[in-house]
Amino acid sequence: MEFNVGIVRNLLAYKPLIICQHCILTPLSMARKRRRSTAPKRFRIPTDAEWIQMRPFKQFVILSPSKSTQGQMDREIFKVNDDIRVRSTETRTNVNQWLCRIAEIRCRESDNNPWVKVYWYYSGYDISTANGVTGFKASQIADNERMLSSHWEYLEWNCLDRVVDIYPWFSDQLDPPEISEDTFFTRHVINFETKPLFNPPLREHKCGICSESLMYNPFPASFRASDTYWHFCPRPQCRKWFHRSCLLHSFEEPDPDSYVGSHKLRILAVDPDDQNPHPSFVQFTYPKPDRGKDSSEFNLSNMANAKWEEMLSKIQSKLHPSILTIAQQPIVRHPNTGNLSIVGNLKDVVLARRLVYHVLEGSQNWIVNRANELLSKPESATTTHMTDSEVWDMLSHCRLLASPYEPFWRRLEIQHSGTTHVMCNSCGGAI
Ligand SMILES: [Zn+2]
Ligand SMILES: [Zn+2]
Repeated sequence: MEFNVGIVRNLLAYKPLIICQHCILTPLSMARKRRRSTAPKRFRIPTDAEWIQMRPFKQFVILSPSKSTQGQMDREIFKVNDDIRVRSTETRTNVNQWLCRIAEIRCRESDNNPWVKVYWYYSGYDISTANGVTGFKASQIADNERMLSSHWEYLEWNCLDRVVDIYPWFSDQLDPPEISEDTFFTRHVINFETKPLFNPPLREHKCGICSESLMYNPFPASFRASDTYWHFCPRPQCRKWFHRSCLLHSFEEPDPDSYVGSHKLRILAVDPDDQNPHPSFVQFTYPKPDRGKDSSEFNLSNMANAKWEEMLSKIQSKLHPSILTIAQQPIVRHPNTGNLSIVGNLKDVVLARRLVYHVLEGSQNWIVNRANELLSKPESATTTHMTDSEVWDMLSHCRLLASPYEPFWRRLEIQHSGTTHVMCNSCGGAI
């Protein structure tokens, strides 16, 4: 059977199927124990040959008596490609919730009882005990993390509990989802039918230097020294995370003062949208000439300082000072929540750098202008750059705009970045 989770099937547009728990059945108190079920089955499970003959649906609705309003019915809609929780008798902690994705919905011609073909999400424990998986350490997977597997099953409709959100998270993503211990996330697919087993390979979420170590676990049960801080290089061909400890061991700048610009100015040169240093900041990335040859060091430093003063006044005339503070930060992350998100300051810093570049390239404060525009026209209108909803989405999901208070960001910088002067091991940029 082809493993095609995530691909929207080209199903015909049937009307949604509505079933009522009152009229048809009391739902099972527990699902079949997956992969080793011995619990009694309400319905005969379809064979593969029978499944093809059954009527496909895009969605179905379960009506059940409302828990909040007496006499009312609640509607729970289940659609193809929804991630769902299955009823189980196990305690409802993050690690033992049974989650899967609906790949197909079908019904026999003889009745209106929906069946779903689901692909199971595996927890770290599931993976470490699965056949064909060796050497996998469950400790690198958080309790609220899952991997979508190629292991599928047909389930009756009354095994389904509710739709859940499982957020995809990619290692090179510049706008990672905000993840808390109460939200599920996924970084991999595990395919038992092909090699490689994991897609993308596990190393994608490991340190770019010591790739033999474990993946970044945002909610580890216990800390190790290597779990502390990670730095990110946002350049398009790098997009890698590194342990700070590994960078300090091999990629610490020997003399941060030996460059024309400070480490902070060289951080600003690392452009998330271009492999080359940003043209406005490239002048600060050059090494100073050797001492004693002539007086060029003094002249160069003076020229660089004067140039920066000019740029600074331009930035400050258009942007709130906190934007520059954020843009100059190294991109870091840290496990477990604190006042730094577990996915790090990545999204804020990338946005802040783009705003700084935008001003230096002679543009107006685009965000402010766009926000003003949005207030005076319908939400459905679009621009040549982004749709309005994308702009609003960006504004509302960035802590940058929710917390523009500069001392807050300065404190974060001191707390999480310290005085490290490290470089990317691929491009040599200040990170
Ligand atoms: Zn490392
Ligand atoms: Zn790099």
